[in-house]
Amino acid sequence: MSDLFGQERDFDEGEAVAVLTTEPLDRYLDYRAPFGGVDLGALVEVPLGPRRVLGAVWGPGQGGFDRAKLRSIIRVLDEPAIPAPMRDFLARAADYTITPLSQMLRLATRAPGLMHPPGDTKVLVAGTAAPDRMTPAREKVLALVEDYGGLPFQPGELANMAGVSGSVIKGLVAQGCLVEVFAPRDGPFPALDPGLPGAALNAEQAVAAEQLRAGVASGTYGTTLLKGVTGSGKTEVYLEAVAEALRLGQQALVLLPEIALSVEFMARVEKRFGARPAEWHSGVTMAERRRAWKAVARGQAQLVVGARSALFLPFRHLGVIVVDEEHDGSYKQEDGVHYHARDMAVLRASILGAQVVLASATPSLETWANAQAGKYARLDLAERFGVAEMPELSAIDMRTEPMQPNQWISPMLADAVAQRLADGEQALLFLNRRGFAPLTLCRACGHQIGCEYCDARMVEHRFLARLVCHQCGESKPIPAACPSCEVEGKLAPIGPGVERLAEEVEARFPAARIAVLSSDMAGSTRAMKARILEIAQGGADIIIGTQMVAKGHNFPLLTLVGVIDADLGLEGGDLRAAEKSFQLIRQVAGRAGRADKPGQALIQSHQPDHPLIKAIIAGDEEAFWAAEAASRARAGAPPYGRMAGIVLSGPDEGAVYALAREMAQAWAGRAKIDSQLFGPAAAPVARIRGRHRVRMLIKTPKGAPIQEALRRWTDGLRLPANIRLTIDIDPQSFY
Ligand code: ADP
Ligand code: ZN
Repeated sequence: MSDLFGQERDFDEGEAVAVLTTEPLDRYLDYRAPFGGVDLGALVEVPLGPRRVLGAVWGPGQGGFDRAKLRSIIRVLDEPAIPAPMRDFLARAADYTITPLSQMLRLATRAPGLMHPPGDTKVLVAGTAAPDRMTPAREKVLALVEDYGGLPFQPGELANMAGVSGSVIKGLVAQGCLVEVFAPRDGPFPALDPGLPGAALNAEQAVAAEQLRAGVASGTYGTTLLKGVTGSGKTEVYLEAVAEALRLGQQALVLLPEIALSVEFMARVEKRFGARPAEWHSGVTMAERRRAWKAVARGQAQLVVGARSALFLPFRHLGVIVVDEEHDGSYKQEDGVHYHARDMAVLRASILGAQVVLASATPSLETWANAQAGKYARLDLAERFGVAEMPELSAIDMRTEPMQPNQWISPMLADAVAQRLADGEQALLFLNRRGFAPLTLCRACGHQIGCEYCDARMVEHRFLARLVCHQCGESKPIPAACPSCEVEGKLAPIGPGVERLAEEVEARFPAARIAVLSSDMAGSTRAMKARILEIAQGGADIIIGTQMVAKGHNFPLLTLVGVIDADLGLEGGDLRAAEKSFQLIRQVAGRAGRADKPGQALIQSHQPDHPLIKAIIAGDEEAFWAAEAASRARAGAPPYGRMAGIVLSGPDEGAVYALAREMAQAWAGRAKIDSQLFGPAAAPVARIRGRHRVRMLIKTPKGAPIQEALRRWTDGLRLPANIRLTIDIDPQSFY
């Protein structure tokens, strides 16, 4: 049982082992352990037909065929084996989300080039020379390198990301505009020092920090809701839990939504611990991702700051997971594996005996209810740090404001903006709609321009001079004539998006400097970060933004927030519409008056007496949650009942419906649980990219074994090749 170096292996050379590959197969494959033996969990390269694929040793061989014919594992990768708790986590996450385990393994091994042999590699960094002549292709490459601010690129990656051919890259190298360096791959991350002093905490913060530290030190599982208004110091407090884990020699993970924009956040962490932590998100180059993955696996990255998929990194000894802005919708992945990073964080920590901190000013109802039920601990930070006060909130009754056609800013709000301009302060106008106008209507025939591939309206983006489908991304030039009646010059934009609001603001405040912040605005992430910083430092007088601005950016000069349309999302068929609207408006309002200046939030609504608007204005959160919880409990809706969303989609509408009806009929007989099935019905977005979508919704009492029932239902189901079935446990959105 020992290899050349006398190390014990779980399987000796020649023993049959079961390997889980990252290929879409629904079973383990048997291989022979290679020379030197192999450990349980080891990452291996195995032959599969003519190919070599990545896999992990998952157990002893299952047998059942001729030992002599077993193929051997080609190579054991030079990476630590996946530890047992991580394997357990992947298996349970796969069970919970009804995902093949192979797909989970793929999530957990998504480091570029993991199969490549270790060693030095050639990477490219910016050179000092200027090119002899500038071409559009060269310009793209150099802009990209500049955008990533000195991070090294693999040559192929750079060509791909810039969308140019390899010869463009070679040309730039030949001229010294890019320089090849042989970087030892995967260098370690600088050590973080938890001993550096943190902020001097106020009494309330100190109590919370102490509780979190004690949780980490206990070495047992626990989840804590850390609830506090924006600016109350949640970040300062949870960094103390991180510090405690680092002191104990454990690793820590901080998950953030929209992480690419959190330039402030990385700077804060660096200040607290004296060095930059590892980052894991889509804005990080492949070379950096690979480095992070390996360092995490070896226990050489103490802290990872990442987006939801960082949860699947192979930590060696994870002590604490922080989920910041835990209510944020971006934690739910809705393609591929449908998982909720917050819930999976709790699962992972409970397996490991680690702590979870869920931080939010406006927790999800799920988390609020778990804290209420005593499953999660709860810590409250009631006050804003320092002298900053919560802004004063009030509604503007749009039924009585005199409004001009095609104007969306009421006189009352306009006066408040003008006052801020006069005082040299900033105002933010919030409208959660991208683009210029949500609807383009023909005034001659009433036709609304829709997407050819989806069941969605095209949204005018004047900035791009195109109509864009927000479902599939399809776009087309704005036509001169109506596609239906062919009359020219009668197409009119209806309703506002942020771009149109910007036009109104420009016309009404011609002297003001205006900044529009919307996720689809041109420019790279880096450019966006720089822009946000510039705005924070006073680079704009009026900020116009979509929900992007609700998230964690600090604008110290901002003293007025105007919510243009609070009614957006009040109704909607969505289970969580009220909750989301409540969170969003409170978050946005919380942007005002963070520093030493008091803030004001004005909320335009046609229904100022709506219970939701009233709760927002009264600042009575507990009342809102209690009411929302009671209404969900009455309806047996999550978190007081369980749901699964099923979508069948395919090019042939009739075939999709036929299969859906057949499946619906079979449900009760096969599932054998107390449940209700709704549908089949056209999904709210009934067609995406030419595929017809039919939805069913299954509702069960809380605690019912819904996954087992779903498995019994779909077991042995043969789907026609062109029909896709997706199952979404605990669906967050209904589209
Ligand atoms: P939250 O995460 O709740 O929005 P932050 O932790 O970002 O709050 O704190 C808001 C601001 O107040 C930050 O600039 C932070 O540095 C500052 N701050 C909070 N607590 C303290 C403290 N105890 N000492 C000094 N500054 C603090
Ligand atoms: Zn479309």
